[in-house]
Amino acid sequence: MVKLVKLKNRYDLFINGEEQQVSTNKYFQVYNPATGEKITEVAEGGAEDVDSAVNSARQCFESGIWSRMGVSQRAKILQRIGDRLERELETFIYLESLCTGRPIREMAAQLKRLPEWFDYYAGLIRTFEGTVPPFSGNYLNYTKRVPLGVIAIVTPWNHPMLILIKKLVAALAAGNSVVVKPSEFTPITTLMLARIALDEGLPRGAFNVVTGFGPVAGAELCNHPEINKIDLTGGTQTGKKVASMAGSNLAKVSCELGGKASVLFFEDCDLEQAVNGAAFASFIATGQTCVQGARLLVHTSIYNEFAERLVEKAKSIRLGDPLELSTQMGPLISEMQLKKTEDYVQIALNEGATLLYGGTRPKEMPAGYFYQPTIFKDVHNEMRIAQEEVFGPVTCLIPFETEEEAIQLANATDFGLAMGVWTNDVKRAHAVADKLECGIVWINDHHRLDPSSPWGGVKDSGIGRENGVECFRDYTEVKSIIVNYDRQSFDWYEDSDEI
Ligand code: NAD
Repeated sequence: MVKLVKLKNRYDLFINGEEQQVSTNKYFQVYNPATGEKITEVAEGGAEDVDSAVNSARQCFESGIWSRMGVSQRAKILQRIGDRLERELETFIYLESLCTGRPIREMAAQLKRLPEWFDYYAGLIRTFEGTVPPFSGNYLNYTKRVPLGVIAIVTPWNHPMLILIKKLVAALAAGNSVVVKPSEFTPITTLMLARIALDEGLPRGAFNVVTGFGPVAGAELCNHPEINKIDLTGGTQTGKKVASMAGSNLAKVSCELGGKASVLFFEDCDLEQAVNGAAFASFIATGQTCVQGARLLVHTSIYNEFAERLVEKAKSIRLGDPLELSTQMGPLISEMQLKKTEDYVQIALNEGATLLYGGTRPKEMPAGYFYQPTIFKDVHNEMRIAQEEVFGPVTCLIPFETEEEAIQLANATDFGLAMGVWTNDVKRAHAVADKLECGIVWINDHHRLDPSSPWGGVKDSGIGRENGVECFRDYTEVKSIIVNYDRQSFDWYEDSDEI
């Protein structure tokens, strides 16, 4: 049963532990992508609001109430927030499905795992140890990890809660205060989580939310001189802008950006599992994931059969109301994203790719931003459809003859987030994984993630890592403390003949 949640007509900002009216007096509308109907309206934050949120985060940080709290107590509060989220999961699942248009089953599978991030980082800070470098002479050198200060977190709409939580929990666990600018398409669950965190003991000002648009609220936040680190997930062009804003303030920056995952299917793979994996890689989230398997590189000996089976699989995918449990694929997030998908399908046709399935909106669903799962074959690596991120349910089949050619094709893209290798040859699997230029490789799988497993890309897919110890370290600064225990006195200005 899907839990229906009554939404407020209007949502304000969340600053210093309370709802705060927006200085601009402006509100923007949030729409249901499955129907195009308005869901609610949300405050359109501007420079003044960002300043107020950053000041609140700074005051909280400087007070030490969170940044200097003992790790055991800090860990307990994080776990309480995670436990509360677990108890209220149904509400969050419903709202994420409503606002993203992603099927309720998909969002349930994703959100059920989110409390694990709270467990993981609560455990990590309880056990994280500093180091004792082997400093020469009679000195003890120890290091401590200290929080950075105020963090700007800017998130996209495709996995609103997952991406927020990956960043937020690591940032808070390290003792930082944060200001979040959620996507303008999906701001509500972020506001709700901030309220829950406060109720469960997170001090006021540790978690602030400024809703609004990227070029205004997002840019004001990333440009703010009081920000010590920016953590963005978004498109590559946004990442380049935000990284230069960080540069101008010498703030740290992590960017999880776009992708166009190459997935390699060798002749010795289990064909049925591989085709299921290809469909999952290509069409989950209506193709709107940064690790979408958008470039399926298939050995020529299995190419035709693979293509036929993938088409059969795509035909079986049930499009429909995201809130129905039987729905397997929802709409795209917006009219703009639908138009972009349509444009890329036309580009692929103009480039000479062969459309095997899809390529249109489903006739039986005139409302909402639905599009059929779409498969192209006869795609060459240099075509735009093989190179540029569509962020829709469109995938390409590219043939290869040899392992070397597959690796060369896989790496011949500007992106480098995730890739996949499907083979039953264990030596080949590891040897190929070793040569792929990306941050994540799945072997006989796709989309799998864990709070302990580093996540991020190379090349145009970004800088930095979410998850694991790497992410925690990125949210801290290392401080080196050197203690002199030499009994001999030291006076540099004493007369000496030594050089
Ligand atoms: P987007 O870049 O349009 O927006 C992302 C966020 O940045 C939003 O909150 C937006 O308001 C904000 N923003 C936009 N312009 C800004 C600016 N000038 N200054 C500051 N903030 C700004 O991306 P999107 O459409 O929301 O998300 C889709 C993109 O995100 C895709 O490219 C996808 O591949 C990428 N993504 C990457 C990962 C990853 O882990 N690497 C995960 C999910 C999505």
